[in-house]
Amino acid sequence: MSSDPIQLMIEKEIALPSPPAVAVQILNAVQKEEAALCDLVKIISADPALTGKMLQIANSSFYALKNKVSSIDRALSVMGTNVIKNIALSFVIATDFRGEKQSSFNFDSYWRRSVTAAVAADLLSQQLGQKDDDIFVTALLQDIGMLVLFMNKKCAYSDLLQEASLSAAPLSDLERHHYSFDHQQVGAVLTRKWGLPESISMPIGYHHKPDSASENNCKTAAILQFSDKLSNIYHETNSAEKARLLQDELAEYFSIGAEETRKLLDDVAAKSIEILNTFEIEPGDMKPYSQMLQEANDELGKLNLSYEQLVIELKEAKEKSDRLTQELKDINLRLNDLAYYDALTGLFNHRYFQDSLNSELTRAIRYHSSFSLIFFDIDFFKKVNDTFGHPAGDQVLKNVAKEVKKTVRPSDIVARYGGEEFVVILPETDMTGVKVFAARLRRCVEGIITEEDNQQIMVTISLGGTTFDPERPETTKDTLIQTADRALYMSKQNGRNQVTILAAERTPSTCKL
Ligand code: GH3
Ligand code: MG
Ligand code: MG
Repeated sequence: MSSDPIQLMIEKEIALPSPPAVAVQILNAVQKEEAALCDLVKIISADPALTGKMLQIANSSFYALKNKVSSIDRALSVMGTNVIKNIALSFVIATDFRGEKQSSFNFDSYWRRSVTAAVAADLLSQQLGQKDDDIFVTALLQDIGMLVLFMNKKCAYSDLLQEASLSAAPLSDLERHHYSFDHQQVGAVLTRKWGLPESISMPIGYHHKPDSASENNCKTAAILQFSDKLSNIYHETNSAEKARLLQDELAEYFSIGAEETRKLLDDVAAKSIEILNTFEIEPGDMKPYSQMLQEANDELGKLNLSYEQLVIELKEAKEKSDRLTQELKDINLRLNDLAYYDALTGLFNHRYFQDSLNSELTRAIRYHSSFSLIFFDIDFFKKVNDTFGHPAGDQVLKNVAKEVKKTVRPSDIVARYGGEEFVVILPETDMTGVKVFAARLRRCVEGIITEEDNQQIMVTISLGGTTFDPERPETTKDTLIQTADRALYMSKQNGRNQVTILAAERTPSTCKL
């Protein structure tokens, strides 16, 4: 019977499991110094599955032996009793305490974390330059107290684990709150009871509070604590945050530099994957931390790339939209052109003339100014068509339009009124001005020669004009048109190729100017 009050308290509350039979044999064997080697070989060799695993792990990159070993005998002489004992114990215990698949306690995840912690503790111990053959099995069993608590309390302990995962409080605190002891203490008591040395059980008892351990054990307890943190980086969320924290803590506690920590992190993953396989535990999507970072960076890169892609596409879409807007403007302009221009001659069309006449009249009334209007019509144009053909007639129309356009001022508006009849609005032009202009226009057209099939076509025009008199602002647009039209009619009546200018609604007077 133990006199340790904690052990008494624990044993009163829960049943501590016996160690697996093979583990007992191994532990007994190593206690008998002389016969140890021989007995250990016998015990392990009696279990072919264990033998296979032992050789597998002995030949793994974890132990990095120069020459491969093919027998337990050989492994023992190369690696030493202690290492072989610890590997054997690790296998035996981890195989025995697997639990049921459907359990509310995730045994796979538990052993995955424990094996990773064992690998991490071994690597960290090497990093710190200390040879500790027990560190692997110590780290592997550091949380065995949790298994024992679950096996005893089942649902209650599952609830407690759930509570711990949701709360900021450490699991040990919650356990002590519920049971008056925690998994560290249960682990320590159990491993001691199983016959494992104090150098193993004591650090287990303090793996969450290494500073409270005795001087002999605090370093190992600290390695255990860090091994747990290293394992958590791979088996819990917020890896990046945890890795950053660990880097600072390792620097502070063990003066390990950032570069070494990164290497340690990578080694933990690479070696754990191998060891987990020998333990027949699925390593999951475990991968070296640097690879995790690289992949995260690649993802980020892809994101950046797709962001840049997005910017390019947006730019292209904007350019396309600008292009379409411009095209739309051009089309609208062309539509306007179609709406205001005459297709054959390029002069303004009838509609534009009507609009312009309205605005010119309004403007003249407002500014008390005069303007004039001339209608002109090609004489005997039918004959031109009949004689030279319709296309030749078209050419004549175009030439007349072109020359008239040249004759007028930029502010004057020349439009095709229809057929071979044209109209000119002359802003700021009074009766005298329109007479002079009309005469010049008549002479201008008289001089146009259209060459068609080596023939020369010449035409004349008859003109009729009128002027808006600002003294008579009541004059309407229709009156102006009718007066100019009547004046044109008079020019035709009087023999063509002449100008008639009428004051709006005044008695017509025809003359050849
Ligand atoms: P008038 O001296 O009395 O004006 O005689 P005209 O032959 O010029 O007058 P009329 O009204 O009898 O005939 C006008 C001709 O103009 C008939 C029509 O075919 C022709 N014409 C009208 N528009 C066009 C056109 O766009 N192209 C051509 N080639 N001919 C046209
Ligand atoms: Mg005519
Ligand atoms: Mg006519």
